[in-house]
Amino acid sequence: MEPVSPQPTATGTASAPPPWPSVCLHDHLDGALRPGTVLQLAARIGHELPASDPESLGRWFREAADSGSLERYLETFEHTVAVLQSAEALERVAREYVLDAAADGVLYAEVRWAPQQHTRAGLDLQEAVLAVARGLAAGEREAAARGEWIRVRQLLCAMRQLDGAERVADLALAHRGHGVVGFDLAGPEAGYPPSDHHEALRRCAEHLLPVTLHAGEAAGLESIRSAVVQGRARRLGHGVRLLADVTRDPQAPADPADPASGLVLGELAGGIRDAGIGLEVCPCSNLQTGAAPRVDDVGRDDPAPARTPGEHPVALLRALGFDVLLSPDNRLMSGTSMAREQQLLTRHHGWGREEFRELALTGARHAFLPAGQREELAERIREAYAVLPPAAPETETAPGGAAEEPVAPRAERAFGDLVRIMRRLRSERGCPWDAAQTHASLVKYLLEETHEVIEAIESPERTGVDAALLREELGDVLLQVVFHARIAQETPAEAFDAAGVVAGLNAKMIRRHPHVFAGDAAQASEDLPPADAAPTAQERGAAWEELKRREKPERTGPFDGIPPSLPALARAEKTLGRAAKVGLDLPPITDPPGPDAGAADAQEALGEALLGLAVRARQLGVDPEAALRAAVRRYVRRVG
Ligand SMILES: [Zn+2]
Repeated sequence: MEPVSPQPTATGTASAPPPWPSVCLHDHLDGALRPGTVLQLAARIGHELPASDPESLGRWFREAADSGSLERYLETFEHTVAVLQSAEALERVAREYVLDAAADGVLYAEVRWAPQQHTRAGLDLQEAVLAVARGLAAGEREAAARGEWIRVRQLLCAMRQLDGAERVADLALAHRGHGVVGFDLAGPEAGYPPSDHHEALRRCAEHLLPVTLHAGEAAGLESIRSAVVQGRARRLGHGVRLLADVTRDPQAPADPADPASGLVLGELAGGIRDAGIGLEVCPCSNLQTGAAPRVDDVGRDDPAPARTPGEHPVALLRALGFDVLLSPDNRLMSGTSMAREQQLLTRHHGWGREEFRELALTGARHAFLPAGQREELAERIREAYAVLPPAAPETETAPGGAAEEPVAPRAERAFGDLVRIMRRLRSERGCPWDAAQTHASLVKYLLEETHEVIEAIESPERTGVDAALLREELGDVLLQVVFHARIAQETPAEAFDAAGVVAGLNAKMIRRHPHVFAGDAAQASEDLPPADAAPTAQERGAAWEELKRREKPERTGPFDGIPPSLPALARAEKTLGRAAKVGLDLPPITDPPGPDAGAADAQEALGEALLGLAVRARQLGVDPEAALRAAVRRYVRRVG
């Protein structure tokens, strides 16, 4: 990895970068309270807390969790659970959770909690689940009113050290389809394997309720094996101790560019990776509990625990091919958020747009949602990333840096992004100029962009093709195609889209080359030369012109860059537009020469008159090219 410049690690500060859109699958409701809310709820029921203002209480939670003392760590949950013994308190905290997660860039979360821990004041298990459901729904509505889309579902946890896990499983089944999407076992892992709760797990399995289990956090490989075999877990809460099942092959050549080189997965680790069982990895939490091995110790006997973000093996897990589901675990106790976990990964591993996009899409695949909703979530993620800058500045790769990836997948992603950008620009949250365009209003741009491509290829003062310019001008032509396709998609009478344009073209190409494709399914060629990632430029009035000036410093004169091959009227219109923009005098409007003007004068006088007509066209807001084309068409229809 390239070294990256340090970034502020604090969250919630004005200088912190905005979070990358994410999916958050391991988050405890009783570990996610706002300190101020803990204070207010405690005051209401007379519960004593170790601090009396939000800031010092927040610090107390972090320090207690950081102390390395299990007693102090567990004490933190004593307080949060103590203040969550009423339906109102649960509802409030659930609502606040949604709002905090939305502000944290989360598009979809599964928040987990243990209903059995909230019955001390007589609250009924059903009521408790309904209270959380109400709070989540209220939070979703409030977020939507602020223009933020988020969905949050519940995972119900049974406590390993308590009886009654079957009742929690039954509760989850009863509320399935009403906000509860899965089952978990929480609490002390060591000494309480999933097999202790086989009846609860059997009921989940019998009804195909998805299960994620805390395993491989506080106990090792046998706990993980039990979670997967007896628990049929589709995801593991942390699972980081799975790295104890990885060994180093001393014979294998070490590749410094590949952290996974030389490492060999055992039966359990390999099986979990290959079965696509997700690992809900929470780096900040793992550093506090000492759950994860130091990355440099992986493959060695008796590894030391990772204590700093750089020592955490999250990047290695990803390099080994595991489905990593980045999560915060306990926002309050770890003083963390998705944004903070992302910042640490950016700082220590250089992760940026591509990595966080992939993590979010992996999260969407592992969401315990119906298949259709998972795909809708994935589409939202793709759309959210399409309108973000191509890479965080600190992770931008050099031109051609992505060339190792085959061209077809890159093209699919890039073209998909363009289609999404166009959809966004035409939407209510988009750009008024783009939204107002029609097929007809775009015609002159299509002509202009086409002439600019010709100019990039044929410009007489150049020897050879200017590749960077050609790439950009081709992009502008492609934009026209996608723009028209988007308009057609929005027009019921037209009803085709960008995919239809490409599919039609593909079919035609294959049809026209029977000697190549006969008896062969169409396949995208993987051996085309790679191209640099094309930057996308958006039309934005004055800002656009300014950008253009900055990008093309060689265009200094007001008329530079007007393609000489433009049709004369279009060229006149463009020239006059440039002159007007910088305040130059426009030519006078003159009459055309009479029929008996001398041949020598006639051409000049007629030219002046036509130029004057172009001035008049500007005054009238009429495109003279289009006006003349239309007049010619009318004439031809009339007399032809
Ligand atoms: Zn957890």
